Amino acid sequence: MEITDVRVRLASRKRDKVKAFASVTFDSCFVVRNIRLIEGNNGLFLAMPSEEARKSCPQCTSRIPWSSRFCPRCGAHLGDNAVVASAKQGSRDLAHPINQETREYITSRVIEAYNEILAESPPSLSEETEEVEEKEEKEEVTGEETESRIEEEVSES
Ligand SMILES: [Zn+2]
Repeated sequence: MEITDVRVRLASRKRDKVKAFASVTFDSCFVVRNIRLIEGNNGLFLAMPSEEARKSCPQCTSRIPWSSRFCPRCGAHLGDNAVVASAKQGSRDLAHPINQETREYITSRVIEAYNEILAESPPSLSEETEEVEEKEEKEEVTGEETESRIEEEVSES
């Protein structure tokens, strides 16, 4: 398996922990988008694309986001504990390396591409495109989830 293309977009400076978003192509035939490059306490690491887990509303059985406090369909109150619980259990990776070697390989290639982009365009020059990225990102990943993933990664290492 070889990484044949890496595309990196810098994140807005407002989100100081998320430095960039990457799309990585494997063997010229498979792309994984929305990989986040995050600055942790021990340096840069990757957060794989993830989705928020879902749960069933106890009242109407609709599938709703794990962290919802109210069911968007029937309005049932689901309790504030749900939000706290979501920090650790609320998301799962959609795609991820299954061994350390591959994780390091992908990480090093993304950091390499990130450094190249940084060298040719200071973050302040790309504010305009970042706004679009921000909106797209919000639908897929909540700030809360990013925080919890950072903690996860830091405690792992
Ligand atoms: Zn409901």
